[in-house]
Amino acid sequence: MKKKEMIFFLIILVLAGAFCIFHFITQTPSAVVSVSIDGTEYKQFDLSKDQYYTIQTPQGYNILQIQNHTVTVTEADCPDQICVQQKSIQNKGELIVCLPHKVVIELK
Ligand SMILES: [Zn+2]
Repeated sequence: MKKKEMIFFLIILVLAGAFCIFHFITQTPSAVVSVSIDGTEYKQFDLSKDQYYTIQTPQGYNILQIQNHTVTVTEADCPDQICVQQKSIQNKGELIVCLPHKVVIELK
Protein backbone atom coordinates (compact mmCIF):
# COMPACT_ATOMS: atom_id res chain seq x y z
CA MET A 1 0.00 0.00 0.00
CA LYS A 2 1.29 3.44 -0.92
CA LYS A 3 1.68 6.07 1.76
CA LYS A 4 -1.10 8.25 0.34
CA GLU A 5 -3.51 5.35 0.23
CA MET A 6 -2.56 4.42 3.76
CA ILE A 7 -3.36 7.94 5.02
CA PHE A 8 -6.64 7.96 3.13
CA PHE A 9 -7.54 4.61 4.65
CA LEU A 10 -6.68 5.86 8.13
CA ILE A 11 -8.83 8.98 7.69
CA ILE A 12 -11.79 6.84 6.65
CA LEU A 13 -11.23 4.61 9.65
CA VAL A 14 -11.09 7.54 12.07
CA LEU A 15 -14.20 9.10 10.53
CA ALA A 16 -16.09 5.84 10.76
CA GLY A 17 -15.03 5.45 14.39
CA ALA A 18 -16.03 9.01 15.22
CA PHE A 19 -19.38 8.49 13.56
CA CYS A 20 -20.01 5.35 15.61
CA ILE A 21 -19.13 7.09 18.87
CA PHE A 22 -21.26 10.11 17.95
CA HIS A 23 -24.14 7.82 17.09
CA PHE A 24 -23.77 5.99 20.38
CA ILE A 25 -23.64 9.18 22.47
CA THR A 26 -26.60 10.82 20.78
CA GLN A 27 -28.72 7.70 20.97
CA THR A 28 -31.86 8.48 22.93
CA PRO A 29 -33.24 5.95 25.37
CA SER A 30 -36.65 6.02 23.71
CA ALA A 31 -37.35 3.30 21.22
CA VAL A 32 -38.18 3.65 17.58
CA VAL A 33 -41.54 2.58 16.25
CA SER A 34 -41.03 0.71 13.04
CA VAL A 35 -43.96 0.03 10.74
CA SER A 36 -43.68 -2.48 7.95
CA ILE A 37 -46.20 -3.54 5.37
CA ASP A 38 -45.88 -6.98 3.80
CA GLY A 39 -42.35 -7.38 5.13
CA THR A 40 -41.00 -4.08 3.85
CA GLU A 41 -40.26 -1.19 6.16
CA TYR A 42 -42.76 1.58 5.52
CA LYS A 43 -42.04 4.23 8.10
CA GLN A 44 -40.32 4.88 11.41
CA PHE A 45 -41.61 7.01 14.23
CA ASP A 46 -40.10 8.48 17.32
CA LEU A 47 -41.74 6.94 20.38
CA SER A 48 -41.21 10.15 22.35
CA LYS A 49 -43.34 12.23 19.99
CA ASP A 50 -47.08 11.96 20.56
CA GLN A 51 -48.91 11.69 17.28
CA TYR A 52 -51.52 9.99 15.17
CA TYR A 53 -50.63 8.47 11.86
CA THR A 54 -52.77 6.73 9.28
CA ILE A 55 -51.01 3.74 7.78
CA GLN A 56 -52.42 3.31 4.32
CA THR A 57 -52.05 -0.17 2.89
CA PRO A 58 -53.45 -1.64 -0.33
CA GLN A 59 -55.86 -3.62 1.88
CA GLY A 60 -57.03 -0.78 4.09
CA TYR A 61 -55.91 1.55 6.82
CA ASN A 62 -54.71 1.41 10.42
CA ILE A 63 -54.58 4.47 12.61
CA LEU A 64 -51.53 4.43 14.79
CA GLN A 65 -51.44 6.43 17.99
CA ILE A 66 -48.26 7.27 19.86
CA GLN A 67 -48.91 8.68 23.29
CA ASN A 68 -46.85 8.73 26.50
CA HIS A 69 -44.29 6.33 25.02
CA THR A 70 -46.91 3.74 24.17
CA VAL A 71 -48.23 2.67 20.78
CA THR A 72 -51.76 1.55 19.96
CA VAL A 73 -53.88 1.05 16.89
CA THR A 74 -56.97 3.10 17.59
CA GLU A 75 -58.85 2.35 14.42
CA ALA A 76 -58.63 0.09 11.40
CA ASP A 77 -60.93 -1.16 8.69
CA CYS A 78 -59.67 -4.74 8.80
CA PRO A 79 -62.28 -7.49 9.20
CA ASP A 80 -60.88 -9.07 12.40
CA GLN A 81 -60.10 -5.89 14.40
CA ILE A 82 -57.42 -7.83 16.32
CA CYS A 83 -54.90 -5.00 15.97
CA VAL A 84 -57.40 -2.54 17.47
CA GLN A 85 -58.17 -4.87 20.38
CA GLN A 86 -54.50 -5.46 21.11
CA LYS A 87 -53.11 -3.79 24.22
CA SER A 88 -50.77 -0.88 23.74
CA ILE A 89 -47.09 -1.69 23.41
CA GLN A 90 -44.19 0.16 25.02
CA ASN A 91 -41.22 -2.17 25.38
CA LYS A 92 -38.52 -2.95 22.88
CA GLY A 93 -39.38 -5.99 20.79
CA GLU A 94 -43.14 -5.79 21.31
CA LEU A 95 -45.38 -6.00 18.28
CA ILE A 96 -48.82 -5.11 17.04
CA VAL A 97 -49.74 -7.14 14.01
CA CYS A 98 -52.60 -6.66 11.61
CA LEU A 99 -52.75 -9.84 9.57
CA PRO A 100 -55.40 -8.78 7.03
CA HIS A 101 -53.38 -5.66 6.17
CA LYS A 102 -49.99 -7.39 6.55
CA VAL A 103 -48.96 -4.57 8.89
CA VAL A 104 -46.39 -5.10 11.62
CA ILE A 105 -45.75 -2.37 14.15
CA GLU A 106 -42.60 -3.10 16.08
CA LEU A 107 -40.71 -1.31 18.83
CA LYS A 108 -37.00 -1.25 18.15
ZN1 LIG B 1 -56.21 -5.27 11.94
